[in-house]
Amino acid sequence: MTISTADLYFNELGTPVAAAFDDVYFSNHNGLKETEYVFISNNQLQKRWLACRKSSFVIAETGFGTGLNFLVVLQHFAKFREQHPTHPLCHLFFISSEKFPITKPALTKALAHWPELHNFAQDLIAHYPPLTHGCHRLQFPLPRETRQQAVSPDKATRAQQQTQQQAVANVYLDLWLGDVNALFPSQAKVTPNIVDAWFLDGFAPSKNPDMWQDSLFSAMAKLSAENATFATFTAAGVVKRGLAKHGFTVEKCAGFGKKRDMLRGVYQPEMADSQAQIRQQRQTKEQQIVDAIFTPYAAIPSLARTPATSPLLTKTTATNTTSITRVAVVGSGLAALNVAWSFVQHRIPVTLYCDEAHLATGASGNRQGALYPQLTVDASRSSSLYAQAFSFAVQRYRLLLHHGATFAHDFCGVLQCAFNDKQIARQNKLLAANNWPADLVHGVSIEEANKIAGVTVNQSGLFFPNGAWFNPKQLTEALASAAIQTGLLNIQYHKCLTHLEYLTELKQWRLHWQDQQCTEVNTVVLAMGHKSQQLAQLQHLPLQSVRGQVESVSASAKSAPLQTVLCHKGYVTPTFEGEHAIGASFVKDDDSNCYRDEEQLHNQHVLTNALPDNAWVDSLEFSHSGRVSIRCATQDRLPLMGMVLDPLAMQQPLQGNMSNNLFILSGLGSRGICTAPLLAETLVCQILGKPLPLSTTQLAAVNPNRFYWRKHK
Ligand code: SAM
Repeated sequence: MTISTADLYFNELGTPVAAAFDDVYFSNHNGLKETEYVFISNNQLQKRWLACRKSSFVIAETGFGTGLNFLVVLQHFAKFREQHPTHPLCHLFFISSEKFPITKPALTKALAHWPELHNFAQDLIAHYPPLTHGCHRLQFPLPRETRQQAVSPDKATRAQQQTQQQAVANVYLDLWLGDVNALFPSQAKVTPNIVDAWFLDGFAPSKNPDMWQDSLFSAMAKLSAENATFATFTAAGVVKRGLAKHGFTVEKCAGFGKKRDMLRGVYQPEMADSQAQIRQQRQTKEQQIVDAIFTPYAAIPSLARTPATSPLLTKTTATNTTSITRVAVVGSGLAALNVAWSFVQHRIPVTLYCDEAHLATGASGNRQGALYPQLTVDASRSSSLYAQAFSFAVQRYRLLLHHGATFAHDFCGVLQCAFNDKQIARQNKLLAANNWPADLVHGVSIEEANKIAGVTVNQSGLFFPNGAWFNPKQLTEALASAAIQTGLLNIQYHKCLTHLEYLTELKQWRLHWQDQQCTEVNTVVLAMGHKSQQLAQLQHLPLQSVRGQVESVSASAKSAPLQTVLCHKGYVTPTFEGEHAIGASFVKDDDSNCYRDEEQLHNQHVLTNALPDNAWVDSLEFSHSGRVSIRCATQDRLPLMGMVLDPLAMQQPLQGNMSNNLFILSGLGSRGICTAPLLAETLVCQILGKPLPLSTTQLAAVNPNRFYWRKHK
């Protein structure tokens, strides 16, 4: 379904106005001050941040509009961190919904209104996503507090080994595109009780009655943490009654500027009008478990969403802050390092266990990998997942580069060639359906394709302007070194996992290594690709090894000008160190990694068949050199992300041991460059009880327990 963008104009004062609603996006009389007064002061954010003992604070908003509210909050939070660099509150989540997003040019024009927000606005504009339905998570790292810390326990060498460690603080914007009355009720099922403050900012109820519905107030109650506050510019009766009905105390106070009144209040269901109704809304813990298990494809059960009781967190009595017990990530490729990086970004210490002497020895060890999303004509839930994952991956990799990481890459775009009649028809259908915005993908003619490619393609195609190629091995290593720099990641090499044992009494996992040693941890994330299949706890998951051989082919004078990644049935990349990567074979249930001449012939034929009669293709000399790796795929071609439930426990949910803190990120096939960052981020947020950047249907689509449901329902 195509998203409708806002129809807006700028009035004589330069204020953006929504034509369809005949209402302004912000006050004609200093919108910035209005935001500070209505939303920041009336939610008492400064005071509450200072008193906060948690590591994160969650604000939810109705109507993102120009992002002014968000940017003002970002500015205030950055200042708060600057003034209190060691304060335990280091992450701010800003969840906003928007049914009619404004286009990037309109956003740029609207934000030019606020020179005082220039730097933050530039970051928002730079990362503003292609406008597709669903959640777009944008990360705004705050300047880091650098501290000296010893890395060696040995006293003698400690002084020499002082490293500069950088404490991480982030603001996360979860921009949900769609109708708030569909989005928030749905998210309330997977992340109840997480919102600390509400910004109710749709257009005036008289001009936009569709938004101010009972379903919104009811979802707010479910999403609200204890004592969550709200503030809104309106004092309309429908809002007052709706909030009171669902457990909020409602107080009228002086409005901003010429406005007489506004409303503010607190979520205190025990004080509310209809207590019985509210009690009913709050799910019991048992009900949550039953729902999570017996709803097919349900998301992972959220047994404890408040940080203090999240599986990873234990309360320390002295300061009442949360501290983290031990987390193990097992794996060495992009999936594992993205998980480690997300943990580190959320300030969680983690140990990564790598089975060999180096990272990325498996499928993430290739010389070049392409980054682009796999899109379907109808914008199915899997392709919307790929579209979101793509934007998040682009942003994550760009941020890494921005912060000084180095890895070979080129944001050269990716061109999907229409190499046969079937492809031409499919691409035409996709373009006609108009489900995807042009800055994500657009059609190009034969002439445009030739120009983009720098060599003759002689085919029309679909072009992903933000597509890229990366050296996945260097990218994996860059994630590792950036994470190590924070002081929160420790990597242990030569740790090959043979089996896992759950210690029921201790509620811990014992990891048994090939070197006969063991490690006990509270939480395990398995990101081991096809090697996951060996573990008893994962035997019930339909994982499959898929062998892939990629050729390294020296560039010729004719092929060297290729300047975008060309995808057809296979792919060919622009040169890296004088060679093209041409791949890849796809052999199911084969985990042999010897180089095969017949697969080289196959790769060569696929290329020449897709791009026939091309002098630059014919000039390439395949020299029996390349790399073989084994990818891990699933039956339905979708990844596995989430908690692995014990099949026995699923039959007896209330007695069985469900929440044993064993998680998986696997089955990424050959798309790990695109999907690993967002899935890793979601998994870590799920473990920590933080807002999730995927919808309930997307969570269900990647839930590792989905196969169990398909079989047993
Ligand atoms: N908070 C915004 C800012 O800082 O610029 C201004 C918000 S503007 C007054 C109201 C916004 O609510 C508009 O962008 C509008 O498209 C959005 N909106 C209206 N109805 C909505 C709905 N049902 N779901 C989500 N957003 C909606």
